[in-house]
Amino acid sequence: MHDLFEPETTRRRALVRVFAERAERAGYGEVRPPVLEELGVFLRMGEATDVVSKEMYEFEDKDGRRVALRPELTAGVVRAFVQHHPPTPWKVWYAGTSFRRERPAAGRYRAFDQIGAEVLGVDDPDLDVEVISLAWSTIAALGLSDVRLIINSLGDQVDRQRYSESVAAYLADHRDELSEAARATAERNPLRVLDTKRPEDRAVVASAPSIAEFRSEASAAHFERVLAGLSSLGIPFGVEERLVRGLDYYRRTTFEIVADSLDAAQNAVGGGGRYDGLAEDLGGPPTDGIGFALGIDRLLLACDAEAVFPAPPTSVDVYVVDTTDGAAARNLVHQLREAGLAADRRYGGGSLKSQMKSADRSGARWAVLIGSDELSAGEVTLRNLRADGEQLRVASSDVRAALLERLHTDREDTTA
Ligand code: AMP
Repeated sequence: MHDLFEPETTRRRALVRVFAERAERAGYGEVRPPVLEELGVFLRMGEATDVVSKEMYEFEDKDGRRVALRPELTAGVVRAFVQHHPPTPWKVWYAGTSFRRERPAAGRYRAFDQIGAEVLGVDDPDLDVEVISLAWSTIAALGLSDVRLIINSLGDQVDRQRYSESVAAYLADHRDELSEAARATAERNPLRVLDTKRPEDRAVVASAPSIAEFRSEASAAHFERVLAGLSSLGIPFGVEERLVRGLDYYRRTTFEIVADSLDAAQNAVGGGGRYDGLAEDLGGPPTDGIGFALGIDRLLLACDAEAVFPAPPTSVDVYVVDTTDGAAARNLVHQLREAGLAADRRYGGGSLKSQMKSADRSGARWAVLIGSDELSAGEVTLRNLRADGEQLRVASSDVRAALLERLHTDREDTTA
């Protein structure tokens, strides 16, 4: 788990903003489920999954209830849907931290931030296209290009069950050729063996039965429509029949977005899919559902690798240097901030030279100098800390307008 500071925190906020704007333009409203839920909510993700069986921070609270820190947000969002029964379609987005007791590595942490979206109550494959395009266009908006969308359909519940049995039988026949880890996974969750990253298991996996033969006519048609929709929106994809994804509740459409600039073991920047049936598992009416989550930590690592989406500058516009008793600085920074400018000052006085050093360090474009000369004349000195170091005196009553005008001109110069 990490402590995050400037400029990383500002960069994360900017990333969430990019996503939130897109989601809200598409009719999604923000949802904030709690960080802690009753354990049962997460057990519905599938007790055979690693996330549930090994990685959850779960404990008994002082009321004797089994609770857990959320390892992802979908289960909590669907629990909220079941509890509050909002009208459908229910379209929501979220941003928040999840917790998994994984073995930490680059791009794999025990607390990580996600952005995501969920839609409850719509079966239409065109919605799958909308949801995937929200994920894809967010990634594109960050400037990432070394990314791939991979997609599969696991069929409906019956298809998935038949397929899982067939894969289990196949893996049992090839038990001797599998790694020890894969054998253990095969017993708990055979489909999970299919998206193994271990090279020694790849040969067996490559000849495993394909889901394509198990999809019902309806789920095959649903999948075709999703693929046609993606093509029509110009979203490139690769069908990957071995893509299963970790959680048990996925049905039909399942997808992942991979950043090839990242280390292969942790290169999934996001993923999602349909989870028709999860609402019912959580005690609600049968309700179709689809969603995705993107990992902010990995998205930003990918941004670093491609040198895009830098942290926005956090410097102030104006730094007030007051070599009198500080009362003028106290009042002026307040006025400037109220006028919408980013302004800072030094506390505790100090010489002109040392205060000017602080002004330079702050990254401010303008310094406002107030000495006894200025004070008695009812004026201040404005000094441009960039470019040519232009300097001028203005009346104290005009300082706000003068700075607003000059900062405005500076901005036009930099965007031109
Ligand atoms: P998942 O629910 O496992 O598909 O997670 C969705 C996304 O969250 C992944 O594609 C990652 O980008 C991110 N993610 C999952 N686990 C971690 C982790 N331990 N550390 C950092 N990011 C993670």
